[in-house]
Amino acid sequence: MSRAVIEKLLEVDRLQMHFPVKGGFFRRTIGTVKAVDNVSFAIHKGETLGLVGESGCGKSTTGRSILRLLEPTGGSIMYDGEEITHVKGKRLHEIRQDIQMVFQDPYASLNPMQMVGNIIGEPLQNYHKYRNQHDRKREIMDLLQRVGLPEDAYYKYAHEFSGGQRQRVGIARALALKPKLIIADEPVSALDVSVQSQVLNLLKELQAEFELTYLFIAHDLSVVKHMSDRVGVMYLGHIVEIADKHAIYDNPLHPYTEALISAVPNPADKGRKRERIVLEGDLPSPENPPIGCPFHTRCPKAMEHCVTTKPALKEVKPGQHVACFLYE
Ligand code: SF4
Repeated sequence: MSRAVIEKLLEVDRLQMHFPVKGGFFRRTIGTVKAVDNVSFAIHKGETLGLVGESGCGKSTTGRSILRLLEPTGGSIMYDGEEITHVKGKRLHEIRQDIQMVFQDPYASLNPMQMVGNIIGEPLQNYHKYRNQHDRKREIMDLLQRVGLPEDAYYKYAHEFSGGQRQRVGIARALALKPKLIIADEPVSALDVSVQSQVLNLLKELQAEFELTYLFIAHDLSVVKHMSDRVGVMYLGHIVEIADKHAIYDNPLHPYTEALISAVPNPADKGRKRERIVLEGDLPSPENPPIGCPFHTRCPKAMEHCVTTKPALKEVKPGQHVACFLYE
């Protein structure tokens, strides 16, 4: 990290997001999808925590729960020392100034009927953040410039821009209220590879300029490595390993992390060829997750008691937490 990191900005403790499954003639609850199940982590001021895992592992649901777009069904979320898990009304509105989201799909997240100037200005309007129209426009022009868009973008509509430019508009909108924490949910996965790095570098520049803290959610391991200071690996609603990115990429401990990382070329291997670990079987349904270790149905190192007992996330090396019986 470029800056000293001391204080925690966000602390998530045993967060749960369970959804009822309805069925039958009377639409009774017949099951539960445990999209997020006892997830705990902290993010320090100024750092980027990457959340990585296969599609459906619960990483986006975790992000949306923190922003309270979803109401958590268990656990707690502390933001800057304040318990915000169930805050409502005026206080929730205030907190959302501080926590903003950059969405995956810049095509779907921008109103096609609005000029870009109005899209970026909407949060300013909602929070009465300007004294007059002249102020508002100057603020929006400043945001356009900071995300690398020309001034005349103000008068254009989203469809007149490329995917990368639209994501810049989404980033400008997220920055409008001068947030402290940005949850970036797959912010480049809908973009051409050629423009992905430009948007990622912009996010890094803005982080330094505005002293932002990021929760960076993505399935692409190279992208997460490029962006993150620490990385949490999710599998079936659980964090199975969380550590400094160098530990995750150079010395993964959890068998699932090992398998994921084995598919990514690593300069630290210095020409040594890493053995590719191909996982057998499909990701189980979160509606009917395995008992015991959630990874046991695909784990090449599974032992007898992994089938019946769930391992807790424990610190096995300084700063490296792993949920696996191999390290107990
Ligand atoms: Fe594999 Fe057992 Fe470790 Fe789970 S607890 S990852 S099944 S070895």
